[in-house]
Amino acid sequence: MFDIQEIRSQFSILDREVNGKPLVYLDNAATSQKPNSVLDVCHAYYTELNANVHRGIHTLSQLATEEMELSRRKIQKFINAEHDFEVIFTKGTTEGLNLISYILTQKLKKDDEIIISYLEHHSNIVPWQLLCERTGAKLRVIPIDENGILQLDYLDQFLSEKTKVVSVNQVSNALGIVNPIEEIIAKTRKNSDAYIVIDGAQSAPHFNIDVQKLDCDFFVFSGHKMYAPMGTGILYGKREILEALPPFHGGGEMIATCSFDGTTYAGLPFKYEAGTPNVGGNIALGAAVDFMNRVGHENIQNHENALLEYAQRHLLEIEGLKVYGEKAKRTGVVSFNLEGIGISSDVGMILDKMGIAVRTGHHCTQPIMEFFNIAGTVRASFAVYNTFEEIDLLVEGVKKAQRMLG
Ligand SMILES: *Cc1c(COP(=O)(O)O)cnc(C)c1O
Repeated sequence: MFDIQEIRSQFSILDREVNGKPLVYLDNAATSQKPNSVLDVCHAYYTELNANVHRGIHTLSQLATEEMELSRRKIQKFINAEHDFEVIFTKGTTEGLNLISYILTQKLKKDDEIIISYLEHHSNIVPWQLLCERTGAKLRVIPIDENGILQLDYLDQFLSEKTKVVSVNQVSNALGIVNPIEEIIAKTRKNSDAYIVIDGAQSAPHFNIDVQKLDCDFFVFSGHKMYAPMGTGILYGKREILEALPPFHGGGEMIATCSFDGTTYAGLPFKYEAGTPNVGGNIALGAAVDFMNRVGHENIQNHENALLEYAQRHLLEIEGLKVYGEKAKRTGVVSFNLEGIGISSDVGMILDKMGIAVRTGHHCTQPIMEFFNIAGTVRASFAVYNTFEEIDLLVEGVKKAQRMLG
């Protein structure tokens, strides 16, 4: 049973008003709201459990460690990783991608190639540019067509023995396009020895993830976009690969022995978790997974797809409104502009006055904006707690903005 009011009642923030109007929160691709069950876990951690993990023999330290390791196993199950130690806690997708690009430094040399796509978030572009600067490798970018769909024949052309990394997102944050990563992974495996990295920041909140079935080498996502606190995230990496690669940060927690003559590293996952982790946040990420499991992946997807379909249909009834990626397979996002209104933030400001939170601008994807020759878009993005009535309000708001700005 999918009871939207029951779900909404779990998110206290949805009861608040903004500018005298009930909040309509449609900026979920930037960050989702957090259910009370997750907030309760955060609060309980600091009121009942707070201690540093993995080193104390005292009771609180052991309890905190047990809870964090239990959360790791929940996340292992959530993405169907083979081992719990393949699940590394990070502070988000950006840290995960920087970590991967750093530890691969020794694996690349001059004129090797890294393949990404036009649809990437800046955090799946810049770390690879930095890796190119360190190694002399070159970046190749899979282009898109006018619907934002990746042109995979270019991937066929690009792939060679020079390809060392292929890194793409599963879902584009700017347009919501679902990329055919199964096909990308299959082509890459067939035609190169490249490491395959999937940016799952926009897919983990919506889809069932199975890293073993995908057969990717790395999969990264952020907790805060899937009902967990800010400053949480996950890096999944295949055991043999993580064991063979060097550490990222050095410090406490990641050593086996440390002396001035040399240091040996801890095994997985601790080798990649230097320093004191965000224990409360990491435990709460497990509670967010529990929340999603309780609602059910199928319910989440069905509801969000219905919202997207409804929003697109009604927005397109507005004359002069263009949806980017209109004909592509998408999830969770509708990104649009009004003809003759070049500045998306003007629309966003009028919507805000009506209590409606959307994102405007380039969404950390300037190459996509360049491709469409625009400065930005208005982006409405959905979570499991959004309603059709909220979309009606959005459509009314966009019509009003068009009258005011037109
Ligand atoms: C949000 C996002 C990122 C960056 O995530 P952070 O949580 O800001 O580190 C990377 N890629 C995509 C597709 C995103 O949506």
